[in-house]
Formats: sequence, C-alpha cells, structure tokens
Amino acid sequence: MSQENLHISLNVQASGGKLDELETPCIVIDRRRLRRTIELMRNLAEQAGVRLRPHVKTHKSLALASHQLTYGGAAGICASKPDEARVFIEAGVHDVLLAYPVVDGRKLDRVMTAGLHHRTRLGFIADSHEGVAAIEDAARRHDMRVGIHLKVDVGLHRVGVDPASTAAIDVARAMAAAPHLDFRGLLSHAGHAYGASSVAEIAEIAEAERRTLLDLAERIRNVGIPVTELSVGSTPSVLAAASFEGLTEIRPGNYVFLDATALRLGVATSEQVSFSVLATVVSRNGHYAIIDAGSKVLSSDKGAHGLGGDGFGWAYRDGPAGEGFLVERLSEEHGWIAHGHRELPIGARVRIVPNHSCVVANLVGRAWLVENNCVVDSWAMEARAKLL
Ligand code: PLP
Repeated sequence: MSQENLHISLNVQASGGKLDELETPCIVIDRRRLRRTIELMRNLAEQAGVRLRPHVKTHKSLALASHQLTYGGAAGICASKPDEARVFIEAGVHDVLLAYPVVDGRKLDRVMTAGLHHRTRLGFIADSHEGVAAIEDAARRHDMRVGIHLKVDVGLHRVGVDPASTAAIDVARAMAAAPHLDFRGLLSHAGHAYGASSVAEIAEIAEAERRTLLDLAERIRNVGIPVTELSVGSTPSVLAAASFEGLTEIRPGNYVFLDATALRLGVATSEQVSFSVLATVVSRNGHYAIIDAGSKVLSSDKGAHGLGGDGFGWAYRDGPAGEGFLVERLSEEHGWIAHGHRELPIGARVRIVPNHSCVVANLVGRAWLVENNCVVDSWAMEARAKLL
C-alpha cells in the first residue's frame, strides 16, 4: 500500500454535526491547529536537514499517521510496542522503527512476520547483549535482515547504554557482527527534558544529547564500525534545540497534539494545542464544579515520565485560549474543578487540556475533529491498548 493510499480519513467520515451536540466526555481535536503543528514540525526538520520519524504512541491512529507521512514530512514512523507497530505495518507504513527494547522472541516474531509480508523496512533497538541476541535470533528464524540502533542513555536513566562505558562499544560490536542485523547507529530519548524548569534548560539538555551521540559515534567509528544514523527525539528537546548538526533524525511524538505539560514547559503556546477533552459540569458545590471526565479519561498522569506539575489538566469554557480552571482532583468518572466562585454552572461544557495527551488518546480510543465548532471527522486510535 502506498503512503497516499494510507491516507484514510482526513476528510471522509465527516459527521457534519456541531461541537455543542457531542456527548461527553470525548476527545476533540482542532483540525486547523493540528495541521499547523504538523506543518511546523515538517518545516523544522527540513530546515534542520534531519529526517522526521514521528512517534505514533502519541495518537495510535492510522489516519493521523497517514497525514504525517503524506503531508507532514515524515519519512517513516517510530512505535513503542510490537503489537502497536504491527497495526501500522499491516496498514502499509513502509518504514517502521520499534524504539523499545524488546527481548521476547514471540513478540519479535510477530513484528517480523508482518514486516516480511508487507516488505516493511524494519528497525529495532537494543541496549544489551541479550537484546541483540533476541533480535538476531528472530531475524535468523525469518531469514531476513533488519536494522538495529544502539539505545543510548543520555540522562533519563530509563533504558540505554551508558555512553561513557566500554559496554556501549561492546554492544555496538555485537550488533555489527550479527549476520542478520544492519547496525544503523545510535538512538536516544532525552525524556528528562520533561523535568526541566526553563526552555533554556531544555535547550541545554538537547545540546548535551547531541554532543553525547556525536562523541559516542566517534568512539565506535574509531574501532572500525561505521555509524550512519544518529536519531534523537522528544517534543520538548526538539522544539528547544539550537542545533541539529551531525544528527540524522528526530522522533517527536507529542508535538501533534501537545498538552498542559508542553504549556508548563514553555515549548508551546495555548493556541497551538490541538487536543482537548470535552466534558460537562454535572454537579457543583461550594468548592468544586464536578465534571463527567475522571481518571478513566484524563488519566492520573502528571506529565511524561512521572515528571509534572499541579493537578490533572486545565479546563476552559471558551476554548484553550481563555481563562483556565485547574482540574484539581480526579475520581474514576468525576473530575474536580476548583471553581473559585467563578461562573461554571451545571450543564456548562468545558474543554480540558490534559497533562499528557498521549495517555488520554490511548484511554479513549476515538477522537472528533472540529473546525469552526463543526465536527468534520472522527478518527479511531486503532493501536490503542496494544500493550504487548
Ligand atoms: N522516542 C522514544 C524512544 C520515546 O520513548 C519517546 C517518548 O516517550 C519519544 C521518542 C517521543 O517523545 P515525545 O512524546 O516527547 O515527543
């Protein structure tokens, strides 16, 4: 399937209804804003001279991936879970990088079976000899060659080799020597940028990430192993970075929607956020307006990687540019908005910018696209809840 054919439903399935008529809670995506942020990232990548590989864990939607590939400058996609990747492989995405350290051969088998069938350019990551062996074994079983990146820990301390260690060189050597693997290069995710207190600090983290990859690539080349790709990516670090020199690829995910975390960090303006949860005030007391969206919709996430600020999002009566109300607490099906004696009567509808749009998209699994208060489309998140 060509990437054009993959363009499923940007303009079809239009419901023609009004925003005011949607039942709540539901996800609403502002189509104009979405198009603008997709264009902004395409331009950023073009100007920086790097390939753009959006992370689809943010939206898990074929329609949105199609839009990123067809109009948004994306050269391929990045996924985090094997079964999530399969949804996109089976829909015909031609270049898929599974940026998660998969060590279970059964999961690798499923991805490789799909990749072989659809002739997908497949890429994997590993940060250990066990990981390299699992991917090499699976590729051998399928009699195929697949790409592999060495995952580098640039400060999040989640997964990745220590870039200063000899283990980093050893694992790269194992990748280069494996008969069914094409060692492509280095890959990092500076997720600790989500804990920064200023845009300047995020820019420093991005620069440190770039230098770390360049230095490690040099050390690996010095032992005779070619390193062709240097892939970085988190939305805050990509948006704040001053230089991409020497890098070949960026992998932002959250940029398509943005959220209260991006606003808190100062890497986006409220006019850029395309994603919100539409909710209705169902009760009110002296302290709180209670809405029909709780943790089962908004999630209890404070922000990416457990780094975050106060509350569970910001609620707006007149769209995300007006004066906001903090969503202070959550029950499963109720949200607690501190109204501060401001006007927020029962029946009022609010648009909530959640802390972490990626988690909300996964929880809800369907979104309405709106433009000028009209519902113009509805998108499924086909890869939602693909946890294996
Ligand atoms: N790459 C990897 C390996 C990730 O884990 C993530 C997010 O967790 C991303 C890219 C995209 O980051 P963001 O959602 O901040 O754009």
